[in-house]
Amino acid sequence: MTAPNATVRPTDAAHLDESDPELPTELLNLPWIDPHNHAHTLSWEDRERYALSGCRSMMMVSSGYHWTPYKPVEASDIRFLWDDAINRRRAIERNHFFEAKLGLGVHTGVRIENPDELLTAMDDYCALDEVVAVGETGVVPSQHVERWDVDEQQAVVEAQMALADDHDLPVLLHTPNTTPDAKREYRDDLGVTPGYEKNAGLGTEPVLDGDNPALEAVKRDVEAAADAGLDEERVVASHADANNTEYLMTETDCYLSYTIGHSWLVGVDAADVANAIDEYGADRIMIDTDCANVLRTDPYAVKRAIFELYRYGIDVDDIRTVVYENPRDVFGLAE
Ligand SMILES: [Zn+2]
Repeated sequence: MTAPNATVRPTDAAHLDESDPELPTELLNLPWIDPHNHAHTLSWEDRERYALSGCRSMMMVSSGYHWTPYKPVEASDIRFLWDDAINRRRAIERNHFFEAKLGLGVHTGVRIENPDELLTAMDDYCALDEVVAVGETGVVPSQHVERWDVDEQQAVVEAQMALADDHDLPVLLHTPNTTPDAKREYRDDLGVTPGYEKNAGLGTEPVLDGDNPALEAVKRDVEAAADAGLDEERVVASHADANNTEYLMTETDCYLSYTIGHSWLVGVDAADVANAIDEYGADRIMIDTDCANVLRTDPYAVKRAIFELYRYGIDVDDIRTVVYENPRDVFGLAE
């Protein structure tokens, strides 16, 4: 059907056939959940961006050495991070209307002086209503500033998993990413990765070696869960990528959360999520942003991925499962 007289000469519209694709307009208003971010460290405007793009609920993760000024890090430094998030959480909810819950944990990306003190204190934190998960945590192949023996790390991860199990909470795992090869190296006298406020020169020699230390770390986490008696369905492996997807999907019952808020750094984006859904189904897949103020991150990443997944051929029901139902069910969010 054309309208021959409406334009001076034929436009694209006159050449297009009549079978217009049916656009899934429900995607415009699909609520979504971000089960891993550090939104309490973002600007007010970035948090507003979550609300403007339909975020229904989020888990703000208040573990991470980036925000502790002192190195080596002491237990009290981490307590401060937990308390800061607890202190501000309700005001964040009232400002932006989305639900904001918390994940608390001991991240082994930096050695902590007296981890037992934290593990003891965590018992009471885990009992708080606003704490919906333990984490992020997980064995990492190398630390910031000071090495942390890999068996000691694994013991700290296992102890947190045991606490999670006691409190019937899931665990958010930080799995190490393998980063794509850079097209070109930066000058090293700057000592940082542009886009990431981290003194790269302070990274330690690895405590895990072998061909694939990033995958080895994840396998140790899964072993820690078994030793702690925590069901694998209660473990969500964040930063899932091409290096760990097959192992996690075929040899464990863990959930996989693909971090897409800083694709420029880790190379994971909606295409990886679509490929994983095609291969393994949507039942154990989530998406998170990991947005934080210490690196270039995108609060609109999930909203953008919702459209991108559809363009990649994923159906609306699977998109809803991944961006909403799975994080809702595992973390008890948006209930
Ligand atoms: Zn994170």
